[in-house]
Parts: sequence; structure tokens; C-alpha cells
Amino acid sequence: MKIIMFSAQPYDKVFFDRYNVDIGIEIEYLETHLGPHIVNVVDNAIGVCVFVNDKLTADVIATLAQKGVKIIALRCAGFNNVDLDAAKRYGIRVCRVPAYSPEAVAEHAVAMLLTLNRKTHKAYNRVREQNFSLTGLLGFNLHQKTVGVIGTGKIGRAFCKIMLGFGCRVIAYDLFEDAQLIELGVNYTTQEELMRQSDIISLHCPLTADNHYLINKDTLALMKDGVTLINTSRGGLVCTADIIEALKQHKVGHLGIDVYEQEEKLFFRNLSEDIIEDDTIQRLMSFPNVLVTAHQAFFTDEALSQIAQITLGSIASLIKGEEPEDSAAVLV
Ligand code: NAD
Repeated sequence: MKIIMFSAQPYDKVFFDRYNVDIGIEIEYLETHLGPHIVNVVDNAIGVCVFVNDKLTADVIATLAQKGVKIIALRCAGFNNVDLDAAKRYGIRVCRVPAYSPEAVAEHAVAMLLTLNRKTHKAYNRVREQNFSLTGLLGFNLHQKTVGVIGTGKIGRAFCKIMLGFGCRVIAYDLFEDAQLIELGVNYTTQEELMRQSDIISLHCPLTADNHYLINKDTLALMKDGVTLINTSRGGLVCTADIIEALKQHKVGHLGIDVYEQEEKLFFRNLSEDIIEDDTIQRLMSFPNVLVTAHQAFFTDEALSQIAQITLGSIASLIKGEEPEDSAAVLV
């Protein structure tokens, strides 16, 4: 009844071991990503536990099924990296963590925004060099700015509430409107209008087949000059080549990204002694008005505790042939 956890980091082991004491699932922790190159190591396991950059294509899932795997447990909310149809075909159950401290991600988006608008990333380094000059650190107020939020689910909703607290005008686009947010003062509009009107745009929708490269040269052209963009959702929502062009043309004034379309080759690793071959991320990081964090928006004590508890609970239920308590946790 073993579970193999892929992309396991030391902190995953700390939190999963802590909450596994009473559950007692056997977990083998592997640091490597799951993908076609490694799927053959899966042996004698009822399930695999995966994260955002593991690639569960139809081929990988076919091999997992052949090896007797019955459960794919995502220890994250997004599931764009799993071929759900293939899992269904092979009778593999797929679960995820539908909600874990949405405030963790929303607050990180705000942290990125506040870093960029007040240049605290530059001030931090400057004063350490005993340079107390303010030249070049001119910021802008968030108060009364128009903030456009794409996707007002759990994280987007938390983000909207924080922005309303800053005294911003909050506009939003989602496939479904949230009545509570409307009551609080959020105005829903079309995606196009949101792009035209916003001083700041924050992405909080999932990556789907329909919204790949939602931010591209055409949608960037609609935006205000100097717009601030924050992406804590998924890298594939943004066409990086187009955003680099828009940064060069000063169309985008500030960019904060916690996710990157090629992140699986970089993020969650210490590459400080390596030569980075990805010229695109290097170009992005060379802009003074770009802030990159390595998919850390979820990374709080509260969120990791919930991720471990919910994932272990779902795996335990599925092993017993029962349904997880939260039906939203079950994808297949
Ligand atoms: P959620 O399911 O609660 O909300 C997503 C919202 O997006 C829903 O209201 C849905 O209707 C809306 N939506 C779907 N397609 C859309 C589209 N094309 N345009 C506009 N809106 C659309 O999800 P959530 O928990 O709020 O998470 C949102 C996303 O945040 C996840 O899909 C994931 O990609 C990302 N995420 C990132 C981190 C991180 O650490 N950076 C952590 C957790 C989640």
C-alpha cells in the first residue's frame, strides 16, 4: 500500500510525516519529477503523489496503470499537468487539494505588487551598501488605482478583498460572478474592458485549453501604458516572449511572476552553481522592474499543513474504497 511522492522537497517530508503519524501510509519520497523518463521506477505502489511540475501525460498514466497504480494524488489545487481523460480510461482515481489557505497565494500576489510599486527589492539592497539616496525609488500609491482581477475563485476573492481594503477600485472577469464580491464593491466586466481599464492586473484563473497565452501581444496592446501585471496562477497564461517585448517598449511598467511557462526546468532547485541555459528567464530577470519568485505563493506553514492533511486524508479514503470528505477534491 505504498505511495511514491515525486518532486519531494525536504519540507514536504516534514509536513507529510507530521500528519501521517496517525494515518500510517507508507510513503517513499523521491526528489525527481514524474515524467516519461522515470515512470518505470514506479513499483509496488498503489498511488503516486505529485506536484505542479510533474507531467502526467496519457503515456505516463498508461505505464502507471500497467504497474498497478490506482491513485494519483495532486498535492496542489491546479491539475493542468494531468491528462484526466487518460486517468479515467485506465480507472485511476485522481484527487487534489481544492482549497488550502487561498490567503497564502493572495497575500503573496499583494507582496509582489507592494514590492514592485514601492521598489523595496531595490531599497533592501541599497541600504545594505550604505546608499541612503531615494533617487530611482519613486513609487506609486495603490489607493484609488483600478485593479483588474481575472478569476475570482478562492484566491481571486481573497485578493479582491485585500485590494478593496487598500482603497482600490476593483474590477473583475470570471465565467461566473460572485454575488458576495459584487456586494463588497467589485464590478464585473468583460475581459477586454478589464484589460483596457486596469492599472494593475492580477491573474487568478486556472490554466485551461482556452486561456493558454491569455496575456499575449494582442491583449497587451489593449492595456494601459505602464500597466502592472502579477501572475501567481500558471506560467502558460502568459506568453513570455510577448511580455519581454512589452517590457522593452515600456508597455508593461512592472511585472511580478511566481510562475513561469518553463519553470519545471528551474524552480524548486538550487541552481546557484549551474549555468542557466534558459535565456528567456535570464532576460526577464535582467529587468529592474520585474520580480520573479519561484512558485512560492503557496509556501506558508498554514498552507503546507492543510496540503499534507487533506492529501493524506484523500489517499486514505481512496485506499479504503471510500470517497474523500470534500467532493471537490476528487477529479476522477
Ligand atoms: P478556483 O477554482 O477557486 O478559482 C478559479 C476561478 O477562475 C473560478 O472562479 C473560475 O470560474 C475562474 N475561471 C476559470 N476559467 C477562467 C477563465 N478562462 N477566465 C476567467 N476566469 C476563469 O481556484 P483557486 O484556488 O482560486 O486557484 C486559482 C489558480 O491559482 C489555480 O488554478 C492555480 O493555477 C493557481 N495557484 C497557484 C499557486 C502558487 O503557489 N503560485 C497555488 C495555488 C493555486
